[in-house]
Amino acid sequence: MKFFNFSNLFSKNMAMDLGTANTLIYVKGKGIILNEPSVVAYEKNTGRILAVGRKAKNFIGRAPHNIAVVRPLKDGVIADFDVAQAMIKEFFLKVQKMSRFFKPKAVICVPAGITQIEKKAVIDSAEESGVRKVYLIEEPMAAAIGANIDISQNKGQMVIDIGGGTTEVAVLSISSVAYSESVRVAGDEINETIGRYLLKNYRIQVGENTAEKCKMEIGSAYPVDGLSSLYNIAGKDSISSSPKEISLSAEEIRKAIEEPVYAVIDAIRRALEKTPPDLVVDINMDGMYLTGGGALLKGLDKLIHKETKIKCNVIEDPLISVVLGSGKALEDMKKYSRVFIN
Ligand code: ADP
Ligand code: MG
Repeated sequence: MKFFNFSNLFSKNMAMDLGTANTLIYVKGKGIILNEPSVVAYEKNTGRILAVGRKAKNFIGRAPHNIAVVRPLKDGVIADFDVAQAMIKEFFLKVQKMSRFFKPKAVICVPAGITQIEKKAVIDSAEESGVRKVYLIEEPMAAAIGANIDISQNKGQMVIDIGGGTTEVAVLSISSVAYSESVRVAGDEINETIGRYLLKNYRIQVGENTAEKCKMEIGSAYPVDGLSSLYNIAGKDSISSSPKEISLSAEEIRKAIEEPVYAVIDAIRRALEKTPPDLVVDINMDGMYLTGGGALLKGLDKLIHKETKIKCNVIEDPLISVVLGSGKALEDMKKYSRVFIN
């Protein structure tokens, strides 16, 4: 009598978007089952993990000095290997509790233009966390698949992915990335710019999460309708250290964040400079596609259109398009075999 192979019974393959700001996991046949900030809080002297994900993000700006709160992928690839791996393991454990899979195959998203060494760090990290076989897919490619853009044709498409730590601009054609450009200016830099502006002009210090919330509520790249005129923000006086609250207008925040916003536009320009004329003509036909959480900055699509003369489409649900696309590639690995890189 033959034994049943129970491991196969629980085997579920998955796709993972390990972002600088957020990690998302898609399980085959199920969809997205985890969506958490890529943040880890640990005790400095023992290295013991205290929290990962949403709970750890809430520690930012509130943790005592013996607790480190870090984002191990801040610059787009794995910078702190041990912490990154601990985080991935915790997320896998969470997901496993929900779906009990065993030694899965995994599709993992990586920035376009990743080096061989960086690829190896991602693969090793996933394998040590219990993944049997790793397939890599470039993030802009995954975002395009997630947005139902036909990436297999011989026609250029441009995808701009604005995340937390990095902005990636890629030109796709015939199921691969033809040109790409990356800058370390994205959502985080906009938050930091708001923090510096407030300190300089109002002598008020605010936490990172508070600056981010301000950006999401009244931040904009171009004048848009329906933005409430004033926003109250609380922090502490940088001189007296007393609590302090001030009101800000949408217009002044727009001016304050011009520098990082234009750094993104410059990256798009550089990518267009590198792109051959026929592909630029192709891109102009459908317009470019904007994704990543940074795509939600109000008016950014309008500003890009104004500055490049190319129409700009914001992909639906930009925070999940990358994991949705890798999930789609996972569901039909044969059809998408050409998009996996090695
Ligand atoms: P990553 O792929 O690098 O993890 P994400 O695509 O998850 O990044 O995007 C995270 C970034 O998007 C953060 O900087 C966050 O502040 C920003 N973001 C999320 N929602 C909004 C919003 N409504 N307006 C502006 N920025 C936003
Ligand atoms: Mg991303």
